[in-house]
Amino acid sequence: MTAEPKYCRRVQITDEVCFEPDSFPVMAGPCAVETRDQLMATAQVVMEAGATMLRGGVFKPRTSPHSFQGLGHEGLELLAEASSMTGLPVVTEVLDPRDVGAVAECVAMLQVGSRNMQNFSLLREVGQSGRPVLLKRGAAATLEEWLGAAEYVLGEGNPDVVLCERGIRGFDPGVRYTLDLAVIPRLRQLSDLPVIVDPSHATGAGDLVHAMAFAAVAAGADGLIVEVHPDPGHARCDGPQALLPSDFFSLMGELGRWTSLAGRSLPECQSHGLLGTVGTDGSGMGR
Ligand code: PEP
Ligand code: MN
Repeated sequence: MTAEPKYCRRVQITDEVCFEPDSFPVMAGPCAVETRDQLMATAQVVMEAGATMLRGGVFKPRTSPHSFQGLGHEGLELLAEASSMTGLPVVTEVLDPRDVGAVAECVAMLQVGSRNMQNFSLLREVGQSGRPVLLKRGAAATLEEWLGAAEYVLGEGNPDVVLCERGIRGFDPGVRYTLDLAVIPRLRQLSDLPVIVDPSHATGAGDLVHAMAFAAVAAGADGLIVEVHPDPGHARCDGPQALLPSDFFSLMGELGRWTSLAGRSLPECQSHGLLGTVGTDGSGMGR
């Protein structure tokens, strides 16, 4: 006997942006904030293409300490500026519990990355931040471990958690990770937290992103997070999986057909670029 599927709870990001059962928000932007020009150009195109939120990492969890680690606090200011320019609320990763306060002042949503899914002090700190949290699944985490991590955030009195399936470690080097889409209907039976899909990290390949994004809609996902770069060949991080702006436009153009089949719509404001402005002081973030 299968359990009755639950619908996701509402997780409000700003006055205009919210995760809810009949909506399908899309977060998009570069893996890492590299320069002002790169960020502003990317923010502008993802807004024009209909993204609901802007993503961009300034604290990057890199396998090698010799790789680009992100612009840090300087990058936070650029994210706030890009948010003001486009009206898109920003999600960015926080790596260190000591940075949570500063990051929460600059962006609408905090991301806990795959590598930190079981960093319990970080989970407690973001639970106290007053900001919604995007909790990515660890690459080798079971569903139970992932939900346990979410409980750490919820237990601090923060009900605004969105889960993100970003691929789990497989055996085939032909794809970067293995996108576990079956976890979405399973989660639906166990939890009312919204769950979104990251087809970029899951595949590591820009040419696989469209197919996995549409499959995510069919599996019942509540949204997407996608990497976009104006010049993927020169990206300082994750270039092979980044979509060119033109590919992101085509993804957004086709996505509407799939979301309507799934009984969802891309948020109204997406097609008109009418999102409210989020001030660099956090005004307009609707909290
Ligand atoms: C990211 O979103 O930039 C990222 C590093 O993702 P993950 O934690 O899923 O690897
Ligand atoms: Mn990345």
